[in-house]
Amino acid sequence: MNQQVVANQEPRTIKLNARDNVAIVVNDFGLPAGTKLPDGLTLKSFVPQGHKTALVDIPEGAPIIRYGEIIGTAKSPIAAGEWVDEARIDMPEAPGLDKLEISTAVPAPLPPLEGYTFEGYRNADGSVGTRNVLGISTSVQCVKGTLEFAIKRIKSELLPKYPNVDDVVALTHAYGCGVAISAPDAVVPIRTLQNLALNPNFGGEILVVGLGCEKLAPERLLPEGTEDSIVRMQDEAFDGFGAIVEAIMTQADRRLAQLNKRRRETCPASDLVIGLQCGGSDAFSGVTANPAVGFAADLLVRAGATVMFSEVTEVRDAIQLLTRRAINEDVGRALIREMDWYDAYLKRGGADRSANTTPGNKKGGLANIVEKSLGSIVKSGSGPIHGVLAPGEKAKQKGMLFAATPASDFICGTLQLASGMTLQVFTTGRGTPYGLAAAPVIKVATRTELARRWKDLIDFDAGRIATGEMTIEETGWELFKLILDVASGRTKPWSDRWGIHNDLTLFNPAPVT
Ligand code: CA
Repeated sequence: MNQQVVANQEPRTIKLNARDNVAIVVNDFGLPAGTKLPDGLTLKSFVPQGHKTALVDIPEGAPIIRYGEIIGTAKSPIAAGEWVDEARIDMPEAPGLDKLEISTAVPAPLPPLEGYTFEGYRNADGSVGTRNVLGISTSVQCVKGTLEFAIKRIKSELLPKYPNVDDVVALTHAYGCGVAISAPDAVVPIRTLQNLALNPNFGGEILVVGLGCEKLAPERLLPEGTEDSIVRMQDEAFDGFGAIVEAIMTQADRRLAQLNKRRRETCPASDLVIGLQCGGSDAFSGVTANPAVGFAADLLVRAGATVMFSEVTEVRDAIQLLTRRAINEDVGRALIREMDWYDAYLKRGGADRSANTTPGNKKGGLANIVEKSLGSIVKSGSGPIHGVLAPGEKAKQKGMLFAATPASDFICGTLQLASGMTLQVFTTGRGTPYGLAAAPVIKVATRTELARRWKDLIDFDAGRIATGEMTIEETGWELFKLILDVASGRTKPWSDRWGIHNDLTLFNPAPVT
């Protein structure tokens, strides 16, 4: 701990809701015992940055309230000014799915926002991409090495001929064979692969590399009548590895020539499909970054865009707040259906919701999944929930959608890409270099200290809300404009500038054989 810094900063805490009996310490490196807070309270113990201090005496068994909601009860009496760390909190039960209110507090429709545009690549099917990328899909892991070998050559020998194409991306994965392909849950990875290839950033130029004997036949990844878009390695016409690579190159060349004709054109912001995600959360996620993202999400929804928030295990403990916001009974039921499916999935694996919070979350001040969830759903903004997508399902409507995915950063990113996401906004408290090859990712830091230290990895500093430098509204507007800039290719996020991207990771809840 840097005592000098502590000494030079005014002590600062944040209380979010009038009902809260805890507040979050804002100061870098925390505040020492004996610190007098502006409201007169004196800290009785050291409280690390992002962690909670009790504002009043909390008796044993009494609720601990943050965001105006109960995040747990006191395991033993907690005195005002003490550090409320995770060991002092008993976690409440998850809300029962059979007693939820549906559509009882549907917010009024957000007022339309006119006149915002971005420069995108319009496709024949009406969808609009934010990048111009050749995506080469695969039906099975067996072909991965071969495709990557071919892609190295495509990048060095073909791509320079096509200056309007941004990149060539292999859609590789561990699925396709050695899996129970007909099990009911196999629909998830198969649908994900089918829809991934249709992502608007790939411009409809589909190419699949397959082996020949795999369970997942390459035809299943293609729309009907596009059979000639498959290179099958076991095809008897191929005389050796060199011939196979040549075939991939020839097919790629044809598609690159098509993609090279694409040009950015001015499109209304309603053509955007934005995914929201968090990773490496801390107690500031729900105070700075997620509220800023929530405000920007409202602006996007008002402009007519499609916005998805996800991560079932991070909304499960706040589901009672979401079902009330469901635009109608069907959407409310769909939210419950996805929670129910995931509860059963976790139970089958012998896990429960407490498995979600990481050591980093706890170090950052998030005591448990309830506190994490309340901070997480702030990303969904303030309007109605308009729709629900099962994992990997394609978004077909505008507005705020809940796209059911695991919270795992890579799996969530992959599933949102399958749902048609063309840009992702990713909030992080602890810091992650996360990036996707298929769509730009704007990384939003919850704290200014992280944004400064990772100046060449973090794209947006929402920590300015905690320091009082900016309001949530100002930060949300700035982020909204950055989203339009990045979608237009005018600003490149850091992960794209460095070319650091995570693997696609399929969600396969079905058995492996
Ligand atoms: Ca995540």
